[in-house]
Amino acid sequence: MHRERVSENVYWFQSEVYAQVTAGVVVGPQWAVVIDTLALPDETLGMRDYVEHELGVQVRYIINTHYHADHTWGNCFFPGATILAHSLCRDLLIKRGIPALESARKQNQTFRQVKIILPQLTFSEGTLNLRVGKKNLSIMPAPGHSPDGIAVLVEEDRVLFAGDSFMPLPYVVDGNAEDITTSIKKIGRMGLENIIQGHGDIILRGEIEAAVKENLIYLTNIRKVAKTATRRRLPQDFLDENKIESCGKSRIYLGGLAEELHSRNLRSLYLEEKQAKDSAKEEEKNKK
Ligand SMILES: [Zn+2]
Repeated sequence: MHRERVSENVYWFQSEVYAQVTAGVVVGPQWAVVIDTLALPDETLGMRDYVEHELGVQVRYIINTHYHADHTWGNCFFPGATILAHSLCRDLLIKRGIPALESARKQNQTFRQVKIILPQLTFSEGTLNLRVGKKNLSIMPAPGHSPDGIAVLVEEDRVLFAGDSFMPLPYVVDGNAEDITTSIKKIGRMGLENIIQGHGDIILRGEIEAAVKENLIYLTNIRKVAKTATRRRLPQDFLDENKIESCGKSRIYLGGLAEELHSRNLRSLYLEEKQAKDSAKEEEKNKK
């Protein structure tokens, strides 16, 4: 696990095991806030160890940026903490997280020590403020990667924990391309010092403009490809031809998952386009 101090009392952790997933810690004089947990129990426990023994405080709050396993399944390792998330995150953990853990347990021993802990504190719009020491955390919706996405701004430092609304490769299979476009544009206008992406490396101030632009171009391109595929006789072949590079992205590591995420993006957007087209046709037919 990589670890870095982002600013005073703000820390960042990155998995070396799964998809470069990240987590954060903001420390106050008496207690700390964790922003997301890591994918595997050992890494989350490593992070807890660091907070409790090196920083010398207990974790009082965990903010889950969204319900996906790689960000929430470590909640159970902080038994005294209050979990804070979007209200949809709680719903989705019940509906999808619990059954997903059931099947993960059958495949991997490691997950037998995991329990889904549901957020006790939720909100669904506007901004929620959490004060920790001298820092104000301003917590706001940032949907698109999933419907329950939230982001956490450390106001004093202009550091944004963006969750998966900002990634080296925007991923929309469980979300919505339009919503993530809106979220990314909003992030681009926030005047940030750093963007902490849900996966991948920290984006520094001087890199933000280019990263925002690149993500927006990628989203435009994959939507175009998906639309064109609906007019092709062999749509899947057309999707396969459109590699990640031709959609404006290259050299993405993400633990080797980038190509796979890209083809899932295309497939999902294509199915959306096709469904829209088919139902429009159906409607046309019914008018006649
Ligand atoms: Zn994720």
